[in-house]
Amino acid sequence: MADQLIRATAADGGIRMVGVITTRLAEEARQRHKLSYVATAALGRTMTSGLLLASNMKRNEARVNLRFKGNGPLGGIMVDAGMDGTVRGYVDNPDVELPPNDRGKLDVGGAVGADGYLYVVRDVGYGYPYSSTVNLVSGEIGDDIAHYLVTSEQTPSALVVGVFVGESGVTASGGILLQVLPKAANDEQLVQLLESRMSSLSGFTPLLREGKTLPDIFEQLSGDLGLEILPEVQLVRFHCGCSFDRVLGALKMLGEVELQDMIEKDNGAEATCHFCGEIYQASSAELEQLIWDLQEEKKAEH
Ligand code: ZN
Repeated sequence: MADQLIRATAADGGIRMVGVITTRLAEEARQRHKLSYVATAALGRTMTSGLLLASNMKRNEARVNLRFKGNGPLGGIMVDAGMDGTVRGYVDNPDVELPPNDRGKLDVGGAVGADGYLYVVRDVGYGYPYSSTVNLVSGEIGDDIAHYLVTSEQTPSALVVGVFVGESGVTASGGILLQVLPKAANDEQLVQLLESRMSSLSGFTPLLREGKTLPDIFEQLSGDLGLEILPEVQLVRFHCGCSFDRVLGALKMLGEVELQDMIEKDNGAEATCHFCGEIYQASSAELEQLIWDLQEEKKAEH
C-alpha cells in the first residue's frame, strides 16, 4: 500500500481519528541517512507523529516541527512535517545501535533517553509559529507525543505509532491518532471505552503486518460508534525543499573572506543537507561568482 493518510470521525463528530501509513518514507529516511535499526524506529515514529499532528491543522502551508532532546546516545531528533503530506527529518547519531529492550523490541526509549525535552513548534501557515516544551515521559516517542497533546492542547488523545525494521529495511510503519473533541469529552464512558480499545491495539505494525488497512483499524476502534471514514486519501512522502540555490545562498552569507579561504584551501565547498543527506558541491568558479555578487551589492549600497 502506498504511504497515505486517512481521516475519520465517530460519535456524531465527537471523535476524530487520523491514520497514516509511512512504510516507504521511513525506508527512504533509513537509506538517506544510513540509519541503524533503532535510529530507523526512532526517526520513523517521530516522522509519523509529525504527519499525524500536522494533519489537523487548517492551511496547506501549515507545518509542525518536532525536536526531541533526550539524554540517550542517539542525541537529538528533528522532524519537519506539513499539512501538505510532506515530511523530512534526521537524528544526530544515525549509527547508534542498542540491544533489544526487555520486551524484545527495539530500544527506542534507551536510544533517545527518558530524561530531556520535546520541543514542538506549530506554524499554522500565517508566519507566526508558536512553540511549547514538555518533559519526556519515556523517550519511546508515542508516549511523549501523547503527553504533549494532553498537557499542551488539553484534548483527550491517544496515539499509537510503530515502525518494523527487518534485514531488508522497513516493512511496516505508521500510526493512528484519536482525539475526543470538546462536545464528547464529558462522556466519560465513551472516553474510557476508546482508551481501552486503543491500548488493546498492541502496537500498530502488527496490525499492518496482519494485512489490516487503515479503514479496518478504524472499524476495530469505533465501528459500533457511528464511524464515518472521509473519502479523501492523502498521499504522504519524504520531501526536502533544499536546493543548490539555497546552498549557494547560505554560502554567500559566510562573506568574502571565508569564501576566498574556501577557494584557496579546498578549491570549492561541499555542503550536506542535514534533513535529507543530499550532498551539494560548489566549484571555485561558483564561489568566485558569489564574491563578485557580494562586491557588486556593496558598490550598490554606496
Ligand atoms: Zn535537504
